[in-house]
Amino acid sequence: MNPPLPEPPPDLGLAREEPLSRHTYMRIGGPAAYFGVPNDLDGLSSIAAWAEANDLPLRVLGGGSNVLVADDGVRAVVVSLRRACGSIEFDGDEVHAGAAVMLPALARAAAERGLGGLEFAIGIPGSVGGALQTNAGIGDGRSIGPLVRHVAVLLDGVRVVLATDEVTFGYRTSTLRDTGDLVLGATLALRPAPREGIEAEMRALLEARQRSQPTSEPNAGSIFRNPPGDAAGRLIDAAGCKGLAIGHARVSTLHANFIVHDGAGIAADIAALMAEVQRRVLAASGVRLRPEVEWWGDGERPEAFRVVDAG
Ligand SMILES: Cc1cc2nc3c(=O)[nH]c(=O)nc-3n(C[C@H](O)[C@H](O)[C@H](O)COP(=O)(O)OP(=O)(O)OC[C@H]3O[C@@H](n4cnc5c(N)ncnc54)[C@H](O)[C@@H]3O)c2cc1C
Repeated sequence: MNPPLPEPPPDLGLAREEPLSRHTYMRIGGPAAYFGVPNDLDGLSSIAAWAEANDLPLRVLGGGSNVLVADDGVRAVVVSLRRACGSIEFDGDEVHAGAAVMLPALARAAAERGLGGLEFAIGIPGSVGGALQTNAGIGDGRSIGPLVRHVAVLLDGVRVVLATDEVTFGYRTSTLRDTGDLVLGATLALRPAPREGIEAEMRALLEARQRSQPTSEPNAGSIFRNPPGDAAGRLIDAAGCKGLAIGHARVSTLHANFIVHDGAGIAADIAALMAEVQRRVLAASGVRLRPEVEWWGDGERPEAFRVVDAG
């Protein structure tokens, strides 16, 4: 039995029982026990200190585009950095971007200044902080990691700047994810390029997404990671899973590595469908698919997410 939840001091501005379905791209998720949008670093540090003193996990929600939140919600203090870390500052060919800046907005702002390098990010609906956790990128190999010059993190209430050799990026992962560092922002190195060319490439990338992804239905992007040398979507399609449905959740018929829902879906539907897809792909091809989307919940993870632990 969990101890009763403490009442936070009013000056922390924490809301109680905030439905996370309002804050996730999937439009799914039960309540956060506490939810805060601090105005600045001091506010964030105070919330972090209160969470620690009360033995409550602190979770940062960025764009909410890579998380599946349990229907029961999370017994945690969830913070959005959109006020505290929402600024963009250009400095020559570099940009200092707050962790809550959304990648498409950053890519557009860079294009307006004739700075390229972020074109790949135009269709990724995540924040800089979220993108750094997974080294967000696209299929041709471009990702945010190689652009990073510095990352600012919050350590024991203090802003600490990490150099590139202190952070390692891999395929859809980074050491920031392992350390659980709270990212405040990053400095990215861009390169001068004609604005028209940058914008033309971004348009082409968005059109390609429009054609190949179910953009009008709630989803969390690629639901499984690509196994080495193969594509999760190809394996799911080959296992006959396109259109497979559980409850209100369905494997997209447009792109097999997307799970969509009709607006009434719940996390349990999505997780059960993921587990069924994993079983069928394993039976058909011998490959055990690992989730790309991250599970947020208390207690035991659903079956689909236990495979992460198996490596
Ligand atoms: C339609 C769609 C298309 C997508 N296409 C792509 C794609 O092409 N390539 C790709 O790589 N991904 C893609 N994604 C997945 C997703 O957008 C990325 O993983 C993105 O980087 C997640 O960022 P976020 O801010 O939404 O993170 P969230 O979902 O909010 O959080 C994900 C994780 O990051 C952590 N986090 C977020 N901010 C911080 C912070 N400041 N400090 C510490 N931890 C933090 C969270 O705590 C959580 O653990 C897509 C998703 C959707 C819905």
